[in-house]
Amino acid sequence: MIKAIIVALYLAPAVLVLVTTSVAHGFIIENGASPWLNTASGSRTANGQPATLTWGIVPDGTDVNDGFISLGGSDLIANLNTAFSGDPLEADHTLQPWFGFFAEAFGRWSEVSGLTYLYEPNDTGLSFASAAGALGVRADVRIGGASVDGLSDTLAFNFFPDNSDMVLDTDDISFFADGTGEHVNLGNTLTHEAGHGLGFRHVVSDTDALLMEPSINTDFDGPQLDEVRGAHFYYGDALEKSNGGLGNNTAALAHSLGTIEDATTASIGVDADTPDQSISPDATDFISVSNTGDIDYYAFTVTEESTVDIELKPLGGQFSQSGEGGIPSPFDASARADLSLTLWDTDGLTPLVTVDALPAGGIESILDFALPAGGEYFASITTTTDTVQLYRLDVSVESVVEPLPGDLDGDGFVGIDDLNIILANWNQSVPPADPLADPSDDKFIGIDDLNIVLANFNTGTPPALDDAAPVPEPGTLGTALFAIYLLLSRKVLDYPAR
Ligand SMILES: [Zn+2]
Repeated sequence: MIKAIIVALYLAPAVLVLVTTSVAHGFIIENGASPWLNTASGSRTANGQPATLTWGIVPDGTDVNDGFISLGGSDLIANLNTAFSGDPLEADHTLQPWFGFFAEAFGRWSEVSGLTYLYEPNDTGLSFASAAGALGVRADVRIGGASVDGLSDTLAFNFFPDNSDMVLDTDDISFFADGTGEHVNLGNTLTHEAGHGLGFRHVVSDTDALLMEPSINTDFDGPQLDEVRGAHFYYGDALEKSNGGLGNNTAALAHSLGTIEDATTASIGVDADTPDQSISPDATDFISVSNTGDIDYYAFTVTEESTVDIELKPLGGQFSQSGEGGIPSPFDASARADLSLTLWDTDGLTPLVTVDALPAGGIESILDFALPAGGEYFASITTTTDTVQLYRLDVSVESVVEPLPGDLDGDGFVGIDDLNIILANWNQSVPPADPLADPSDDKFIGIDDLNIVLANFNTGTPPALDDAAPVPEPGTLGTALFAIYLLLSRKVLDYPAR
């Protein structure tokens, strides 16, 4: 629950928008401020595409302001060094004991989404929020500190894109330095403020605890499921960073699920399959389609003729939500976008089957689809709804076992037991003879059936000792010996004449 001792509010000022009027997204997007399209590391053209952001810490003394008034020179580094026992003479921040908490916070957003945060060590000390990031010069996200409003209340504030500079209230340095929960006080402050910098306003919920709520909550660590979903809306899932940033939008760029052995299932996206918005700080397996422009391809390999089941389950969960100051109402993040699933042949170009049987929220399934041979096949996920939808994909494979000729009892080996089935039904019609004894399927048990067994005699996998046939009864032992006689006779007849 919310810490009672410290009434700690995050603040997101320095924007002109008064109240968000956006449609419900769960996460509340910042209207009027586009997400990052241009950063020091490059450009992108639309939501759902990955972005690289640099972050860094401004030199102490850099003018810190909230966009309107100056808060004085930054004193963040000095405060951090004092509180975390850092070395004030060490200029390389990466060697300071507090550096890792900053790196972890930005790294967490990178783990769960198409974002890549990189540390930028340089900063020329320009006044806060006055210049865009430039590689080797200053970060996209510049972090400073100043006295904001004394102990508690505002902990920090952050600009919306595409400025996103961050200010920590150094009056709260003792709160940030508290080591409880692996420094979750500082971690959740940083990940929350970074969330504003990514384009999110505050959200309130009375059913679930979320990172972007206005007051800090240290019962969890980092972005929760709704925030992961929001990051995917803007910047795509982590697979959009694969293939050098080209993502997995074609069969040639498909993300491989590997070889799926007989009677096994390969799954992806499972960390979003949770009963509420709570996610582990170690969870990284989140996938989604971001919008109608996104298509996700997965490859999987089967080693032989198989049947495949593919299940596409939309995820996100049900919870209450509203923008700050609103009254939370029920929201179903699992039914945001209507998903469609296609299975592709090994060329990645020929669709084998497409399913879109259900509206948003429904599980789309391809069941018992016959794959005629081993090889690498593909599955793709698309949506006709222009918003983000988390999902999981499960691909289950069953090998098609070709029957072994002559293996009448189906134990995987052609042996005496199979001969006995022939001989026990010898010279009879079907029925009454056992149809198993008629592999030639001519409704009569005769020499053609015997030849099928003999031609394949001793093939297959011999039964293990424990599974060996029971000791034959005297009557069947006689027939078995007769069978062996026939077998030997056949072999002798097949020798070349001497
Ligand atoms: Zn905030």
